[in-house]
Amino acid sequence: MKVTAKNGNQFEVVGEEPYTRQDGTQTTLKVWRSHCVDCNQEFTIRTTMAIVDDSGTKQFMRKRCDEHKNQTMYRRS
Ligand SMILES: [Zn+2]
Repeated sequence: MKVTAKNGNQFEVVGEEPYTRQDGTQTTLKVWRSHCVDCNQEFTIRTTMAIVDDSGTKQFMRKRCDEHKNQTMYRRS
C-alpha cells in the first residue's frame, strides 16, 4: 500500500510493529518507508493502524532521514 502526502512525498507500508502505549496497553503500528529528499536514504515512520489513506497526516509531511530531519530548522529561504 502506498500513500502520497500533500507535499508529494510517497510512503509505502513495509511492515507492522507491536507497540506498548504509556498506559501499558498493546497496539500495533504501521511502518512506512520513504526516501530523504537530501540524500535519498530510506527512512521509516510509524503510525497507528487507524490510518488507511490519510495524506494529511502529520507524519507523512516528513521528507528527510534521521540525519537531515533536524537541519530544516536552520534553513532560511
Ligand atoms: Zn538524508
